[in-house]
Amino acid sequence: MTIPDVDLAVIKRLSGDYLDLPFWEGTARHELRLHGCALCGRKYWPASQCVEHGDAQMEWAPANGGGIVHTYTIMYHAYAPQMAARVPFCVAVVQLDEGPFFHTNILDCPIEDIHVGLRVEVRFQLDDSTGLTLPMFVPADAVKSKT
Ligand SMILES: [Zn+2]
Repeated sequence: MTIPDVDLAVIKRLSGDYLDLPFWEGTARHELRLHGCALCGRKYWPASQCVEHGDAQMEWAPANGGGIVHTYTIMYHAYAPQMAARVPFCVAVVQLDEGPFFHTNILDCPIEDIHVGLRVEVRFQLDDSTGLTLPMFVPADAVKSKT
């Protein structure tokens, strides 16, 4: 697998933060990383400091890549020309198994099958317009049926 370079300028242009650079370096390697507190184990996304222990022992570590759909909406209208080929698509908030909530898209799933509580797994997708590798999610059953 070719690992694309992560451009910090792109992250900043997208209103990201340099503190999240390890996250994007992880997605480029198809690894979903969360910022966690080594003292209590609480996980965070985006980069943060622990609500209990501050930033003294924060470190990036791989998540297991699983979660559940916490809430979602279906986009039927293309608000920008580049969205026209994608509609309808699902914008979701997935609660990762480690706790953080993650804004994403649900792929490879009929719209009518998406529901709150749906078990999902991460799938990485290179975004040609930014060069970033984006964590998307697919139903966990779809992952198992392909392995
Ligand atoms: Zn802590």
